[in-house]
Amino acid sequence: SKMVYYFGKTKTEGRKESKTLLGGKGLNLAEMTAIGLPVPPGFTITTEVCDGYYKAGKKLPKGLMDEVNAAVKTLEKELKKPFGDDSNPLLVSVRSGAAVSMPGMMNTILNLGLNDVSTAGLAKATKNERFAYDAYRRLINMYGDVVMGLEHHMFEEAFDKVKKKYKVTEDTEVPAEGLKELCEAYKAVYKKGTGEDFPQDPVHQLQLAIEAVFGSWNADRAISYRRIESAKGNTLIGSLVGTAVNVQAMVYGNMGDDSGTGVGFTRDPNTGQNKFYGEFLINAQGEDVVAGIRTPQPVSEMGKWDKAAHKELMEIKKTLEDHYTDMQDIEFTIEKGKLYMLQTRTGKRNGIAAVKIACDMVKEGLITEKEAVMRVPASDLTHCLLPSFKPTARNAADVLCRGLNASPGAAVGKLAFTANDARARFEAGENVILVRRETSPEDVEGMSAAVGILTSTGGATSHAAVVARGWGKCCVAGASEVVINEKTKKITVNGRTFGEKDIISLDGTTGEVMAGEVETQEPKLSGDFAKLMTWADKYRRLAIRTNADSPADSKRAREFGAEGIGLCRTEHMFFEADRIIHMRSMILAETEKDRRTALKKLLPFQRKDFEGIFKAMAGLPVTVRLLDPPLHEFLPHGDAAQKDMAKELGVKVAEIKSRSEVLHESNPMLGHRGCRLSVTYPEILEMQVQAIVEAAISCAKKKIDAKPEIMIPLVGTAAELRILREKVLETIETTKQAKKFTGKLDISVGTMIEIPRACLTANEVAEYADFFSFGTNDLTQMTFGYSRDDVGGFLPDYIEHKIVPVDPFQSLDTSGVGQLVAMGVEKGRSTKPKLKVGICGEHGGDPASIDFCDSVGLDYVSCSPFRVPIARLAAAQATL
Ligand code: PEP
Ligand code: MG
Repeated sequence: SKMVYYFGKTKTEGRKESKTLLGGKGLNLAEMTAIGLPVPPGFTITTEVCDGYYKAGKKLPKGLMDEVNAAVKTLEKELKKPFGDDSNPLLVSVRSGAAVSMPGMMNTILNLGLNDVSTAGLAKATKNERFAYDAYRRLINMYGDVVMGLEHHMFEEAFDKVKKKYKVTEDTEVPAEGLKELCEAYKAVYKKGTGEDFPQDPVHQLQLAIEAVFGSWNADRAISYRRIESAKGNTLIGSLVGTAVNVQAMVYGNMGDDSGTGVGFTRDPNTGQNKFYGEFLINAQGEDVVAGIRTPQPVSEMGKWDKAAHKELMEIKKTLEDHYTDMQDIEFTIEKGKLYMLQTRTGKRNGIAAVKIACDMVKEGLITEKEAVMRVPASDLTHCLLPSFKPTARNAADVLCRGLNASPGAAVGKLAFTANDARARFEAGENVILVRRETSPEDVEGMSAAVGILTSTGGATSHAAVVARGWGKCCVAGASEVVINEKTKKITVNGRTFGEKDIISLDGTTGEVMAGEVETQEPKLSGDFAKLMTWADKYRRLAIRTNADSPADSKRAREFGAEGIGLCRTEHMFFEADRIIHMRSMILAETEKDRRTALKKLLPFQRKDFEGIFKAMAGLPVTVRLLDPPLHEFLPHGDAAQKDMAKELGVKVAEIKSRSEVLHESNPMLGHRGCRLSVTYPEILEMQVQAIVEAAISCAKKKIDAKPEIMIPLVGTAAELRILREKVLETIETTKQAKKFTGKLDISVGTMIEIPRACLTANEVAEYADFFSFGTNDLTQMTFGYSRDDVGGFLPDYIEHKIVPVDPFQSLDTSGVGQLVAMGVEKGRSTKPKLKVGICGEHGGDPASIDFCDSVGLDYVSCSPFRVPIARLAAAQATL
């Protein structure tokens, strides 16, 4: 098949091909050429050739160089410049370009085609000897470096000698004569290093350069980059077979003060503002902009330097946006006043900019509402929901180091080194950032008190990261350059020291740690964000609920658009100090009577919590799950804590120890938990149901429309549900009678489906259920047989070896666990066609999983409050 695709005035061949074949850069060069933009001509060698090169044991396929030579001939003819010419030579750049951009990971060679003869030709043609020899020495250096693997310092030493001879310090001060000598010196370095003369045949140079680009596809850093991106969920990058190679006629931005080069976005990628956002440098090559040696000027100033070029660039902005109907990220060069486009691609942007650009483009008539909904990556909406740094302040910030962007957001505060300090200082009104090597469950009080969390070890699924994400709190994890001294209460970062009184700023979205206070901005949930959400709501089929167990979380979720609670984990209501004591005495009780006494004391707390939640969710369903975790989770661990508990409850420590031993289980997650607790201790179920019903009655009296749904967890057999449902219905009745309530209560009784057996027998389970809610956390745990709490030990290896594509606890395993979900839905509805079915595992907030939930016909997904808008958008994207 065809290996080389030409683009230029003569012909443009690649336009109809795919990005997978030509790479992003190659395809867009063809496209820009075809729509009449000024692109230096050239040709693209396909990614398939790269694949073939590796398959053949690093050999270029037969016939490739014939096609390359033919394309070179066309190029020479079109530009009327021959390769290696002694009066006006053709020069080309050779660049990589995969289907997914891998910035800076692969090789580039510029000025290819220069040799002793053509360099003299270039000097003649440009009337600029200095320029020509500067280009030549750059080629020898780059070629030696990239193609032959010579050490850079060998060239550096030669350059220093020349500079010394001419008594100058800067590269740019070396005169033409010196650069000529430098070229000779470089050729000597090349020969010494490789044992060969620097190749004088341009076609030979080209062939080796193509092989070098292919070779860089499998350089260590490129492999690591692809592995890291895959692990982050970029599934496309793992499936690529190779890079394309783009060979393109050189244009020069360093031919004098009428030349220059720049990069930019057609709109502001930070704010989304419809204003060209870019920079340029006069008399410079592309590399100089990136290298940061000279400070570029903003493109808004470009008109002052070259009015015509600036005007043309602004016209090109419009042409590109009209054509691609999206914001573009471009590179351009001006050679002696003539503008050339070197690259365009869809521009990366943050969530805030994505929303604004999508809404603006609908207004401008470039895209439709539906396209706008599809345009914004659902997960990026988090940027819109959290405080962020003002872009101007951010750009000026003093960045100390970078860790993992574990949980997005912006935090500014003074350093606190222990959880207790953080809590105390928070209570005294300070904003603190908790700095720990890593966090543990004992730190949660301090974590919740802190405005942000910084750790020096630990990854994206470390304790700090997971907890912070759940709370929507900013966290930078694993910032290894931060050296923490807990004793002296100081951190050292790259030689700078900060103590308790010092303020730092954390950007959880980028992972950056900054010195001092960087100005933040609050999220705006109105305007464009609200508009996009309305569009999403118009197109989605799935309802969106939230997982919440406090009135405050419920209220926030409702503001984010939650249409009910899909999971209220009641065990979270037992942990506060004034409650846990009753819970513990209930657990210690040896008789039903003593248990009931303790439960009676818990009842008012539960009732109050439920009332608050029903009120916050008035008119919307609230799924309350009965007690789920194994009881030992409520007992203290360690001697000191047990002693405290004994004192508080007025019992002997030995009693607590022996009860703890009795409750100890080898596999608690597979042990006495969930509905099994209600079978053994029905009085717990009775207390909880009584609290729910009393709260509902109290709401009814206040004309608050409460819609409780009582959910029984961890059901694996229909019989469990039959017995417990009976118990629940009985308790509802007795409570109503005790309260002498004769009105109607809207209470349904359903179950979680989180054990594989419940999926397999869902037709039987459905007999006793008004609704199903898939608990995909446990379902994933039990389907894979991976302990949810212990995956950290092996899952990273599994992902690295591609045994699993992503963490199945984050994104639903659609081919395995998902099949059980699909079966559960189908079997359940075979018994009850109208059975309401939802999901409340963590997957309910993951866009890919939501797409699956939509496809198998669930009625709703339920996720943490902060993910509700993401779920609304993802649900719309699933239907479009
Ligand atoms: C589940 O298992 O998916 C679930 C939501 O319950 P929990 O995480 O509380 O076990
Ligand atoms: Mg569960």
